[in-house]
Amino acid sequence: MEIIQLKLSVTNCFLIKTDNKYVLIDTGYEYDWNLFCKRLTSVGVRLSDISHIILTHHHDDHCGLLNKILKENNNIQVIMSYLAKDLLLKGENDQTHGGGLVNKRIKQLIFLKQVYIGIHLKKIIDKKSNLKFPIYKVRENDILVEEEIRLKDIGINLNGKILKTPGHTIDSISVLFDDGDCIVGDAAANMLQFAGTKYCVIFICNINEYYESWRKIISENSQRIFPAHGKPFLVEKLKINIWKNQKKNMVMN
Ligand SMILES: [Zn+2]
Repeated sequence: MEIIQLKLSVTNCFLIKTDNKYVLIDTGYEYDWNLFCKRLTSVGVRLSDISHIILTHHHDDHCGLLNKILKENNNIQVIMSYLAKDLLLKGENDQTHGGGLVNKRIKQLIFLKQVYIGIHLKKIIDKKSNLKFPIYKVRENDILVEEEIRLKDIGINLNGKILKTPGHTIDSISVLFDDGDCIVGDAAANMLQFAGTKYCVIFICNINEYYESWRKIISENSQRIFPAHGKPFLVEKLKINIWKNQKKNMVMN
């Protein structure tokens, strides 16, 4: 099974072919629309070729293009955790379930980046989402996943299943294929390693749950991990780094 990566400004989306259609995992920021269309064209896929979108969680950099894509192809079924439904109605990243940045260095980097953008790229900052996204109302045909479920049981002809992998957010899910490829959204990441992220994403709601989700990903025999941020890597990295970031070192936003 081939996984096609669409690299957007910050987010990796993935396409997987099924019969004559494609399943898209995640979208990008709202402002990534032109880039998204360009990437899609470059791999020879049209919006009308997409049958399903699996949303790994409700964040702005993952759901930002939902409405735009569905405006072009209203037949797409969107699949998400049942916990995403209400969060998508709020139009901003959930901050009611606690959480923070993975360590102090990340906080410093974010601060520096904001100063840099503020000075040099003032026009671009207006385009940024500021943790907000266009509200999405779940439609009748969409599928809300409550328990772990095989893809074939929700009408996708692929060998794999949806895992609940909370921690980054309460509604985070991953897609694990039977060949060991696991698309994890932000349940793991391969970014800013020099700042001590150790394969965590920079913001985490609940770090214990986050690492419990790693345990699940590992114990389900995942092999290759495809994160939304950074390059794919082998599951060994999760085995080595599990529990390495500690709650006491996290800092609030
Ligand atoms: Zn993300």
